[in-house]
Amino acid sequence: MVYFDNAATTKPSEHAVKKAEKYLYEEFYNPSALYHGGLSASKSVKEAKETVLKNLGISSSEYEVVFTSCGTESDNQAVFCAVKRGVFVTDLGEHSAINKSFEELVRQKKEVAFVSLNSDGSVNFSELKKTVKEKKANFVSIMHVNNETGAINDISRIADELKKIDPNIVFHSDGVQAYGKIPFSFSKNLDMYSVSAHKIGGLKGVGALVKKRKLNLSPLIFGGGQENGIRSGTENVFGINVFRFAGEERYLDLKSNYDKVKKLNEYIRQNLDKEIFRVISGDNASPYVLCVSAVGCKGEVLMHALEEKGIIVGNGSACSSRNRYSRVLKACGYDEKILDGVLRISFSPDNTMEEAISFAVKANGCAKKLKGIMN
Ligand code: PLP
Repeated sequence: MVYFDNAATTKPSEHAVKKAEKYLYEEFYNPSALYHGGLSASKSVKEAKETVLKNLGISSSEYEVVFTSCGTESDNQAVFCAVKRGVFVTDLGEHSAINKSFEELVRQKKEVAFVSLNSDGSVNFSELKKTVKEKKANFVSIMHVNNETGAINDISRIADELKKIDPNIVFHSDGVQAYGKIPFSFSKNLDMYSVSAHKIGGLKGVGALVKKRKLNLSPLIFGGGQENGIRSGTENVFGINVFRFAGEERYLDLKSNYDKVKKLNEYIRQNLDKEIFRVISGDNASPYVLCVSAVGCKGEVLMHALEEKGIIVGNGSACSSRNRYSRVLKACGYDEKILDGVLRISFSPDNTMEEAISFAVKANGCAKKLKGIMN
């Protein structure tokens, strides 16, 4: 089976799982316990936090890591626990983890603004600046890499510019599709950054929120006071360590992985039949995500046809596949003919050129056949 739905989830890294295995069977102790085994588990969690900070190129004197159960929880923690009143600003391209949290803010009668997108799914930067200035925003959340189109927002520059408008703005970014994939320089003006393990060879059920130490966060989950009282619940020590080793692996080869995946992405872009397929992802998008539309086909039907031929791709975001059209791609301005045929091909460094070649041949063949049937 060829797997091209890595933005939905990735196959766990066997190497990382093996390295972490001792925390599953031998050192299974509760990291809050004061005997030796507990202390060792707790030390490994601390080291995992240092790995996240090191990977992002930031220092533990300024930033700290809160482990959570997933990227969604990290996003919720950021939206609901840093700023309690005032004006909240985001954009129309966010993953549901942010989008639905903002809908909840609306329900709570908070003042909220959604900024529009460019056609590639990146945020309209001038509108963002204008909105933040005019509305005197207190909290802003803009994603790093869009999970549907791969559009990259220059979040360090955005954070720098917004802090020039008002240094007290709390700025958060959802980095779930960027961490372990995209090289970038982390601005000191970024207050919070969400990441998730299962997008980079870790396990489902582990995420993290990177936060400025001096930023106060109230808890979202109350209990035993783990994670400095911000996120109670016994830590998933095994999952956290798989995340740690998978992250180390990804950052060791970040540049070569990026170049490899870019070649696969470019091959597919160039070899899909231009009479059928329209590329939606911009030229500067993350190479890990390629959004295309088979105009005149139904994306879901094409996805199943490819599955029968041994190739798995996504049709839009996995989290929004129950809706007929992608809310995000609609906000990019695409019409129904294009929205109907959307496929998302998303890569991991484990994918090969043979797989990319096979995908292009089969996607062209299936789409042609479907178009013949559908027209
Ligand atoms: N944010 C983005 C951009 C995502 O792509 C996803 C998952 O697809 C999430 C958040 C949610 O992450 P998790 O599945 O770990 O809750």
